[in-house]
Amino acid sequence: SCGICVEKCPFDAIEIINLPQELQDDPAHRYGENAFSLYGLPAPQEGQVTGILGPNGIGKTTAVRILAGELEPNLGRHEESPGWDEVLEAYRGTELQDYIADVRDGEVTVARKPQYVDQIPEQFDGNTRELLERTNERDALDDLVERLSIGPVMEQSIDDLSGGELQRVALAATLARDTDFYFLDEITPYLDIGQRVTAARLIRELAEEENRSMLVVEHDLAILDLLADTLHVAYGEPGAYGVITAPKSVRNGINEYLSGYLENENMRIRPDPIEFEEHAPRTATHGDVLVEYPDLRKSYGDGEFTLDVEGGEIRENEVLGIVGPNGIGKSTFAKLLTGDLEPTTGDADLDLEISYKPQYVTIDQHMRVDAFLSSITDQFGSSYWNTEIAQPLQLERIMEQNLSDLSGGERQRVAIAACLSDSADLYLLDEPSAHLDVEQRVQATSAIRRYAEQQDATVMVIDHDIYTIDLLADRLMVFDGEPAVNGRASAPQPMRDGMNEFLANLEVTFRRDERTSRPRINKPESQLDREQKREGEYYYAP
Ligand code: ADP
Ligand code: ADP
Repeated sequence: SCGICVEKCPFDAIEIINLPQELQDDPAHRYGENAFSLYGLPAPQEGQVTGILGPNGIGKTTAVRILAGELEPNLGRHEESPGWDEVLEAYRGTELQDYIADVRDGEVTVARKPQYVDQIPEQFDGNTRELLERTNERDALDDLVERLSIGPVMEQSIDDLSGGELQRVALAATLARDTDFYFLDEITPYLDIGQRVTAARLIRELAEEENRSMLVVEHDLAILDLLADTLHVAYGEPGAYGVITAPKSVRNGINEYLSGYLENENMRIRPDPIEFEEHAPRTATHGDVLVEYPDLRKSYGDGEFTLDVEGGEIRENEVLGIVGPNGIGKSTFAKLLTGDLEPTTGDADLDLEISYKPQYVTIDQHMRVDAFLSSITDQFGSSYWNTEIAQPLQLERIMEQNLSDLSGGERQRVAIAACLSDSADLYLLDEPSAHLDVEQRVQATSAIRRYAEQQDATVMVIDHDIYTIDLLADRLMVFDGEPAVNGRASAPQPMRDGMNEFLANLEVTFRRDERTSRPRINKPESQLDREQKREGEYYYAP
């Protein structure tokens, strides 16, 4: 059973134990008999950024299609649609009344950024300039191009852009449009933290300065917190039904979501809370040394890009977080470790066997998930493998699907499983959080940690989601420099020192939420921001 209901299951499937208030009302939309139903709708507001926080498959796209006027909601009566007038009647007196009246009258225009930017090259032939000029409706393109650093790729074919470049181009293309309502489905995948903060500021400015309605789905909680004015939590059974709550303050919405209990709804959405350790960052393990390396330098060509690596050691059994902007030499460092690249100076001689999950997951052969994974490990299907890999990564339900049919989040989980299942000295995961929802990030994080502990494996994780890094890493390597020009890699250091160095480069400080200890980005130049910068405590502030 889905564990939620009391009187009557909306699907006639199960006996109901505790039907939440929302499910006792009519849904906003039901696709058909026993098909997905959506309860509640988000309420976009002029001049505001409205966030939605919840898992994939819960009806966010359905809600947006309704708000965009593309899908006429049937209020659960899928046999005969009631029509917009009756829908308006149903929402009279709610925050959505005026908005729905405008939709009915065909007066709402919408710009949308899709979730999977990787698919844009299949849909567009041409270069960046051509794509952006088609959406330049507000005369804001030059500013967007500059602030999102798109200039260097303006003449490049869309086919040749990296994921991070595509994400920024897609954001610029959406925000350049002149519409009432903007919907952005995930803004952070493939962006580094600096780029994430810039994207968040651009979205806020469009709301505040141009009085537009912005609706954003986002799984990076630190960025969502910075970005949104109000928040709807979405919960339910992916594929069966979804409930979009009434708006909450962003702080309460995120806190309740993390705690696993929605207060106004009196609804438990997860058995255990997600907890952050207060100020004691995890004490570094003192395992044996897996590898020690001296100072290294790697230059490409005639020194177009140079990476300097400070000598250090990687310990057995630790999870080493790697942070720093894009284009700064993180992958180059990984290739020095594998021996795929020779350093220009310094003697590496490491030759470690590394199992690597790249940032852009491109497994899309016509092969079933189970066949693919069993070709990697003979542990496939063992109870150990099921408990440690398949379950936490929620693979059971997709085992029989084809790799090419998987969604971005499903593909990511298969790629993480494949990486961890291989036998190697070192496991290197590049942006495992991309396209995972919050729940999945937490589960993947604990799977990776447990795996390191139980298999005596050493894991290195590059990620830009600060919560993922905080929950995952024992120590940090910090990369700094000028993207595409030069990079410098610090030796692995304790979490507090590493976070301070990393965030000082970015000039961003975090405070702790009083209730949950969750780190929150301080307003630049606020009193706390200035105090913490003065004391050099950027993250684990007392
Ligand atoms: P999200 O955006 O949260 O991932 P969606 O709104 O895309 O969720 O989908 C929610 C559910 O509705 C999914 O289970 C999906 O399969 C189902 N669904 C979407 N469109 C249709 C449709 N036209 N007919 C029937 N079911 C649909
Ligand atoms: P990151 O992983 O931090 O994003 P990379 O190590 O991939 O950074 O790249 C750092 C810089 O080196 C980038 O400017 C990239 O274009 C350049 N670069 C990477 N590989 C090569 C190569 N084989 N030849 C020349 N330049 C390269």
